[in-house]
Amino acid sequence: MQRRSFLEKSIFTGLALTVLPNVALSQKRDWEYSILELMGKADIELFGKGINLREAAHNAFLKMKKAAYSDGIDIKIVSSYRSFDRQAAIFERKYISYTDKGMEPLAAIDKIIEYSTIPGTSRHHWGTDIDIIDGYRKVDGDVLVPSKFEAGGPFEDFKKWMDENSKKFDFYLVYTDEPKRKGFKYEPWHYSYAPLSIPMLTEFRGKNIPILLKEEDFLGSEHFTTGFIRDYIRNNILDINPELL
Ligand SMILES: [Zn+2]
Repeated sequence: MQRRSFLEKSIFTGLALTVLPNVALSQKRDWEYSILELMGKADIELFGKGINLREAAHNAFLKMKKAAYSDGIDIKIVSSYRSFDRQAAIFERKYISYTDKGMEPLAAIDKIIEYSTIPGTSRHHWGTDIDIIDGYRKVDGDVLVPSKFEAGGPFEDFKKWMDENSKKFDFYLVYTDEPKRKGFKYEPWHYSYAPLSIPMLTEFRGKNIPILLKEEDFLGSEHFTTGFIRDYIRNNILDINPELL
């Protein structure tokens, strides 16, 4: 009897030891994102063909898409997850194009960051953010143009629907038309799944972003000064819809 109770006690203690650290680990995983994940350099698990979002964002997106369908809107993703390398290719292509036209490097970079991010700092790296339009509307030329979302434009009804409903599904506009806002221009197409992107932004802003960016090596990055990066963080990364901070 004595031996048996000793064994039972040992098994219990052993279980406690193995179970408790696992619980702590899974809680940690919900909130802690590696710098590689935050900068689009990790191989994260993405869900949904043509959706490519983290699981919770994907599920919420499908619910929102279904609700919009019943109101005659076909929410179509133009862009969702984007890796560091993909963002670097976009940045370099624009940098070459602007400097080839005779722009000075710093002027070219300022022009790029009206709409495009510096690689490693895009919210599209997180698997939480989407650029969306109404797939039912046939549109000529570029679709991600602000005037197309305004009165008389092809996405007017889409934008109205999103204004009224997106928050019910935890999707928020990031780059609003608030006149005092700095950084990226108004993007009526870019939405973020707040339950994931808020903690991710909190973690990202806690990292030493100037040091991280100075370690990178892509065309144009040699012109980044500490002052430029500081302004970029303040205006482009943090001057967003306050509901996402
Ligand atoms: Zn976007």
